[in-house]
Amino acid sequence: MDFDHLVNKAKGLADMAGKKTEEMLEISRLKYSCVQLNNEIQHSYEKLGAFTYKFQKTGEENPELVEMCVKEIDGLLEKLKELTARIDEAQHRSRCSACGAMNEEKAAYCIKCGAKMPEEPVEEPECPDEECASNEPCDGEQPPCEAQ
Ligand SMILES: [Zn+2]
Repeated sequence: MDFDHLVNKAKGLADMAGKKTEEMLEISRLKYSCVQLNNEIQHSYEKLGAFTYKFQKTGEENPELVEMCVKEIDGLLEKLKELTARIDEAQHRSRCSACGAMNEEKAAYCIKCGAKMPEEPVEEPECPDEECASNEPCDGEQPPCEAQ
């Protein structure tokens, strides 16, 4: 029985489980923020509704206040969008931009509508040498390209 091998294997499994747990914790944390944000949005809608009701009843007008509420909701919705995208990312899923269906991260085409899924954006570090004529992306670790 190769003891070291067994230990290494167990260690590898533990690392994997740890990573998985971390991932799941991150996802539940994000989901919790999502719920809180949804509550906030709901609250803002209610506030706007209450103002609108009051203005309608009293004939009062306050477009600035309404505008403020709308902006607040827009800001929260924007945050929610970011949060949802982060949850998708943490769950290794991507959303179809055409129909909004959830797809596997590596999916080339949407399972629902067949639209082409965007490919993973590849971050290419730019050449730090401004004089560099080559359009080849430089590896950050390499010295700047020589001008050609
Ligand atoms: Zn789709």
